[in-house]
Amino acid sequence: MNENILKNLAWNAGNYMKFETERPQTWCTGCGNFGIQNALKRALVLEGFDQKNVLFCFDVGCSGNGADKIEGYSLHGLHGRVISLAAGAALANENIKVISFGGDGATFSEGPGHLIHAVRSNYPMIFVHHNNENFGLTTGQASSLTKKGAKMNASPDGVFLDPINTMDFVLGLKPSFVARGFSGDIDYLTELFRKALRHDGFAYLEVLQSCPTYNRDTPEHWYADRVKHIEDAKNYDSSDIWQARKLVEDLNDEIYTGVIFEDKSKMNFLRAIPNRKNTKTVLKDEVKRYGISEFL
Ligand code: SF4
Repeated sequence: MNENILKNLAWNAGNYMKFETERPQTWCTGCGNFGIQNALKRALVLEGFDQKNVLFCFDVGCSGNGADKIEGYSLHGLHGRVISLAAGAALANENIKVISFGGDGATFSEGPGHLIHAVRSNYPMIFVHHNNENFGLTTGQASSLTKKGAKMNASPDGVFLDPINTMDFVLGLKPSFVARGFSGDIDYLTELFRKALRHDGFAYLEVLQSCPTYNRDTPEHWYADRVKHIEDAKNYDSSDIWQARKLVEDLNDEIYTGVIFEDKSKMNFLRAIPNRKNTKTVLKDEVKRYGISEFL
C-alpha cells in the first residue's frame, strides 16, 4: 500500500478516535445503530469537528443509548422531547453544532408536535430519526411506523393500522432539508451526515435501520434489496417539493435515499427574527455553572 494512503488511514483512525469511548456496549449484535453512529463519527471528523464544538442530544430509546457510545458533550432528555431540548441549546449558542437523535416511537408517537415546530421554525440543528419501525427498548411493541400486518410483541395478530409516511409528513411542513439514509450503507450515510452538518437550518435526516431482535419483518437484507440512491432517479430535482413528495410515496419497493429535498433560500430561525435583522454578532452563552436547586 502506498505511503500516502497509509498516512491518510492513520490520520483518519487517529481522528476517528476523538469521538470513541471505552464505555461498555449495550446494543444488540447486528443492530443498525452501529452503522448510524459510525457514519456520524466519520462525518464529524471529515467536516473538522471535535468534541468541544458539538453537542449531542438524545431522546429515550435504543437510539438514546447512543449517549453512552460517543465521547463529547451530551444530554439525554425525556421521551419524545429531545427536539425542544436541543433547539434551546442551538438557539443559545451558535458556535456549537447541535445534533439530536430520536427513534420512531419518540418522534412519531410521543413528540411529533416538537418536530412540527422545529421544521416550521427552521432551528439551526440536526435531527436524526432512527427508524426501526418499533419500540425496541421496551421489547418490540408496534410504533406508528410499523408496517401493516407485522406481528409485534403486543400485537400478535398483526398491526391493523397503516403506518405514517414520515417523509411525506415532514415534506408537508415546508422544510429546508430532508434526507434519508440506510444504516447498512455507511459510506453513503456518511456523506448525508456531512451535508446535514453543512446545512444552515433544521436538517431532518431519517435513517432506516434494522432491529434484528424485535422487528423480523424488516431485516437488514429487506432494506438492502430495496434501497436506491437519489442520484439514480431520472431527472430528479431536489428543490422541487412535489417531485419529492411523489418520490417518497413508496415505502415498500423502491426506497430512495439521499438528499430528498433542500430549500437553500429559507433562513434559519435566528436569521429570520425581525429584531435581529442585520445583526452581525452571533448568539453565544458560554458554558458556566448554574445553580438549579431552586427548580428541583
Ligand atoms: Fe437495536 Fe433492536 Fe436491540 Fe434496540 S432492541 S439495540 S434497536 S437490535
